[in-house]
Amino acid sequence: MRILISNDDGYLAPGLAALVRACEGLGEIDVIAPEQNASGTSNALTLTRPLSVFEARGEHARGFRVVNGTPSDCVHVALTGLLGHRPDLVLSGINNGANMGDDTVYSGTVAAAMEGYLFGVPAIAFSQAEKGWAHLDAAAATARAVVEQVLAQVTAGAEPWLLNVNIPNRADASTLPRMVTRLGRRHASEPVIRQTSPRGEPIYWIGPAGDARECGEGTDFHAVAAGCVSITPLQVDLTDHAARPAWVARFAGRSA
Ligand code: MN
Repeated sequence: MRILISNDDGYLAPGLAALVRACEGLGEIDVIAPEQNASGTSNALTLTRPLSVFEARGEHARGFRVVNGTPSDCVHVALTGLLGHRPDLVLSGINNGANMGDDTVYSGTVAAAMEGYLFGVPAIAFSQAEKGWAHLDAAAATARAVVEQVLAQVTAGAEPWLLNVNIPNRADASTLPRMVTRLGRRHASEPVIRQTSPRGEPIYWIGPAGDARECGEGTDFHAVAAGCVSITPLQVDLTDHAARPAWVARFAGRSA
């Protein structure tokens, strides 16, 4: 079993070290992570400059390889030449904060896992529901338990899959029920925060994500609020299949 681990909070993030430690003994582990915090970079690839890779030093990042790019860059470079082998599993996280509902579209954590999935490798993105790393060890134990639960699905050589896992920040996280969910929806983001730079120019900070709007039973928001670990199977196909017939009718006979 060969496991590639990345994240979006950067190679020094406690969540990455915790996930790596938790996966010890499950197989051969490679860690390739962004040099800087790349949260919110979604599936971005760096196309306008080359990428550098260096080996990290320091107690919590020893042996980690670091890329001066995005989470998707890390996994992309790993799978297309850097690793020299094809991993059996790609893991991402553990993220500092939830990736539920609309977050998944912006998330670099989900994107790192998705990059593996796009290359045909099963992948899991892990996030803690609240920021601040409270009960990170429990989240890491939960992540390991989830990986162990799906290991059989990895070796079966079946179609690749992509799971998005959100873990409540609780000391008993690893004993919580694991619920398979669908994505909820958030309200639109809060407004930008306008400030004035020291040079007197207006500057804007992106505002915080909106609160949960569609958070009924069956959603990731609902599961986490109910004290469960949320596991959402994701797909990449953004087609609105339900709306397609209506659009076909609207455009029928109107082509130039
Ligand atoms: Mn992050």
